[in-house]
Amino acid sequence: MSDFKLLVTGCKGRMGQAVIAAADAQGVAVGAGIDVGDSLSAALALSDCVIDFSSHHFTDELISECLKLGKSLVIGTTGHTSDELARIKEAAKTLPIVFASNFSVGVNTLFWLTRKAAELLGPDFDLEVLEMHHRLKKDSPSGTARTLVEILADVRRLEYDSDCRHGRFGDVGARTPKEIGVHAIRGGDVVGDHTVVFANVGERVELTHKASSRDTFAGGAVRAARWLHGKPAGLYDMQDVLGLK
Ligand code: NAD
Repeated sequence: MSDFKLLVTGCKGRMGQAVIAAADAQGVAVGAGIDVGDSLSAALALSDCVIDFSSHHFTDELISECLKLGKSLVIGTTGHTSDELARIKEAAKTLPIVFASNFSVGVNTLFWLTRKAAELLGPDFDLEVLEMHHRLKKDSPSGTARTLVEILADVRRLEYDSDCRHGRFGDVGARTPKEIGVHAIRGGDVVGDHTVVFANVGERVELTHKASSRDTFAGGAVRAARWLHGKPAGLYDMQDVLGLK
């Protein structure tokens, strides 16, 4: 077993359960797990690093307690507000934090390919991102779709907040070359599908990733916790963990 112990927050949820199984498979000890109504401070005292797949509403409290006790954090939860994102960035000046909208090797390769394709295809190609998830997913668009749009916006020198177009309804007029469309589909038990469309007149390129198991995210999050152990304070992502930077 590992020389450090994990606290799994959101331990009764789909991802929490998958993380506990992945920790066991990778020989990493789980010191505690908490869900709604459990004491965070008591559980933190039993652990060295938190893996969080709960709710973004919990992020403020989680970060405050981790700062008090000096615990490192792997954050997989998505759907944060800009204030919550700012809080994570600020905390990473003091704590080592891996924050990733997606922990799978395949999706992180998709991130890399998306940047390359956007650079190679250039501004004549219209950019759209499609994502599909199970019917119970609460936030929209997915954190992964958001990351894909951020990568595209970075290459095109656009801004997520002003240039991202969430779906289309009614008399919206023709598409502008600047906008990046993002569309969220919900249904069934889909673990997570993402497609980036690069469309020009006469041709179209599509990059697609489909996850068929949560184990890929959970295994990646445990891998991130192992990588983070002993690292200095800083805000890291899965590209750092996988050495893709
Ligand atoms: P889920 O609803 O199955 O599980 C969430 C769990 O967190 C629930 O058991 C809930 O009771 C618990 N929870 C909520 N608020 C809490 C609080 N204040 N304190 C403690 N526990 C609390 O959801 P899920 O499918 O497991 O997803 C959880 C989060 O992880 C979502 O934000 C989802 O988008 C994200 N996610 C990220 C990745 C990734 O690779 N980064 C992959 C899948 C899901």
